[in-house]
Amino acid sequence: MNKTVHNPKTLEWQVLSDKHHLAPFSDYKQLKQTGPRIITRADGVYLWDSEGNKILDAMAGLWCVAIGYGRDELAKAASHQMNVLPYYNTFFMTAHPPVLELAKVIAELAPAHMNHVFFTGSGSEANDTMVRMVRHYWAVKGQPEKKVIIGRLNGYHGSTVAGASLGGMKAMHDQGGMIPDIVHIAQPYWFGEGGDMSPDEFGTWAADQLEKKILEIGIDNVAAFVAEPIQGAGGVIIAPDTYWPRIREILAKYDILFTADEVVCGFGRTGEWFGSDYYGISPDFMTIAKGLTSGYIPMGGLIVSDKVAEVLNEGGDFYHGFTYSGHPVSAAVALENIRIIREEKILERVREETAPYLQKRLRELEDHPLVGEIRGLGMLGAIELVKNKHTRERFESNGVGMICRNHCFNNGLIMRAVGETMVIAPPLVISKSEIDELIAKARLCLDLTYEEVLV
Ligand code: PMP
Repeated sequence: MNKTVHNPKTLEWQVLSDKHHLAPFSDYKQLKQTGPRIITRADGVYLWDSEGNKILDAMAGLWCVAIGYGRDELAKAASHQMNVLPYYNTFFMTAHPPVLELAKVIAELAPAHMNHVFFTGSGSEANDTMVRMVRHYWAVKGQPEKKVIIGRLNGYHGSTVAGASLGGMKAMHDQGGMIPDIVHIAQPYWFGEGGDMSPDEFGTWAADQLEKKILEIGIDNVAAFVAEPIQGAGGVIIAPDTYWPRIREILAKYDILFTADEVVCGFGRTGEWFGSDYYGISPDFMTIAKGLTSGYIPMGGLIVSDKVAEVLNEGGDFYHGFTYSGHPVSAAVALENIRIIREEKILERVREETAPYLQKRLRELEDHPLVGEIRGLGMLGAIELVKNKHTRERFESNGVGMICRNHCFNNGLIMRAVGETMVIAPPLVISKSEIDELIAKARLCLDLTYEEVLV
């Protein structure tokens, strides 16, 4: 337990954590020694911890707080809806106004051929729903043997059993196993895996793995391909320019469904409403969560194309749903969140002003001796930490990412370490002066990390 705290409440909370709380994605042994950092409040792009430290949250929570913290309008929308209709389900042929209005608004924002939404409580549940709906779709079409879903190594689609199976994180598969009929292909991660190929050659190679896998499994057995337009949790992996056009060709050639997991990219991360818009890819399904409510309240969903919805109509009863599917309070908060993004022209500002500025300033870190590559797009960025910036050689011992992350933590900045890649995804409303602060702090933490790994 952390004995260096100043506020006695911090220690009290850390004891509660130790005694009673099982935290997600945490090293329990380490947590026992250090105790968690206790975050007590937030405003705009800043968090405060129980020790009074102010921290610039360059991760928007977990990629989700699009409109920034502390927007009273969302609290008011939730409070109003709780008074009018705090809960009712959407099972067994009932509905309520907020869920229907939200479905209409999402259909307006989604690509023109996608006009139907199945609501869930999270991104993981959205991907689970997709697995069940994809297999149901092929069964209704008289091809029940089309079951296999192709995902990508190092992709992330959630932490439920189906979500973890769709994702390509080996450490997750090793804990709890995988469900059958899910396979993975290589990811389009040129910096880490491109070898001697140029980025464009590697992009084509990585996309061709999809065709190879379809042929290996047999087209009669393949149901769908699932991919994030930009891999978030895998380390902000932005495919080379040749990748998505080639994937598009392969998808057009074979009769399989395509799911774009928009949980990170959706609702403005790339400056467009969806990553699929940015890349001009035309999915059959899009899974959403996070930015849908700016994380103020849990909600996810599956946006479905008209082609799929027609087949579902033929199929009759779909035996699937969650108690909180389309929860009225979540729907009211999502509607208010989307209203704010639209009326305050947040995406326009991201596209025209703040994202180009962030990307320009981020690339100034390229001269740092620890930095092997800077990449980014919209309000997403990645900094690759290397031993040798010319050969892309990594440090022998893993852990430079965690060292850097800890320096950030101690210097008022939240960046996430994915192995040896530092990633950022700040709130979409971050200002230019806050971007300046982010970059200055990032450089300081790179310097401190460099000093530490040199000795
Ligand atoms: N898909 C992607 C691309 C994600 O990044 C995440 C969450 N990080 C999920 C799905 C799962 O969402 P949730 O944590 O809401 O279940």
